[in-house]
Parts: sequence; structure tokens; C-alpha cells
Amino acid sequence: MGKVLVLNASYEPLNITSWRRAVILLIKGKAEQVEHNGKLVYDKFPLPTVIRLRHYVRVPYKEIPLTRRNILHRDSHSCQYCGYTGDELTLDHVLPRSRGGEDTWENIVTACVRCNVKKGSRTPKEANMILRRPPHRPHSGLYFEVTKHIKSGVHQEWQKYVIGI
Ligand SMILES: [Zn+2]
Repeated sequence: MGKVLVLNASYEPLNITSWRRAVILLIKGKAEQVEHNGKLVYDKFPLPTVIRLRHYVRVPYKEIPLTRRNILHRDSHSCQYCGYTGDELTLDHVLPRSRGGEDTWENIVTACVRCNVKKGSRTPKEANMILRRPPHRPHSGLYFEVTKHIKSGVHQEWQKYVIGI
């Protein structure tokens, strides 16, 4: 059984929950069904994949931890210099550590071994290696989680609810 995307009353994605909890919210009348996958949980009760809360909920910003896994995900598991995708991926400090480069979202990118070695302790400009996208801090932890699910191919139907977050 899959996960369910919960939308706020405003139709913005709010969180991801289990199908059981989603069904409880529906039965209690706290949410309405937006999308289902056609499978039945009970008689005439299709399994939800997207639900929407009837009342608006305010959410505080949640910090996304700076981890190797999260940086790879932000960079779509591709070298930010040459576009390589594969197993040989490393993390590269844009401004090298040896020159005061810090561990921040803005200073760490995914790089293949070849590009990492080639760049060495130079800046991209010095090495004449152009970053495909300037690295930035992801703006929403939920967006991160939701895109992971969509990329895994399980919840394609969530795609239309996450544009612009
Ligand atoms: Zn590369």
C-alpha cells in the first residue's frame, strides 16, 4: 500500500502520510479525496493517493539536513560540471576547503571523480569548469520528500500538485 500526499485547504502540499491515516482523516470528515488509484480499501472506498484537508493548517519551516544523500538528490545524482550520472559520484567544495570553503548548500556540489580530480584545489573559474547550475539551499523540506517519491516512479500523480513550491 502506498503513501498519500496531504494537501492543505489551499491545495498546497502539506505532508506525506500513510494510507491508513489518510483513510481515518477521510472517514472523520477532516479531509476530502482528491486522487485515488482505483483499488478499494473497503466496499466503495477507493484507496486515496492525494487528499485535501478541509481546514487550513499553518506550518513552520523545517530545515533540511546537509547530507551527502540530500546533496546528491538536489543535484539529480549528476556531476554539476560534466553531467555524468552513475556510481562514481563525489562531493566537491566549489571554493576548496583548503582555501576556506565552507560546508554549506551553496558551496558543495555533486561531481564525478574525474571532474573532482581535474578541478583539484582551484575554483571553477580558475579551472575553467562551469557549474551547470549554481548550488542553492533547497527551499522546502516537503518539496524534497515529494520529488523523491515522484522520481522513484511510485507517485506520478503527485506531480501536478508540487509545481511552484
Ligand atoms: Zn564530471
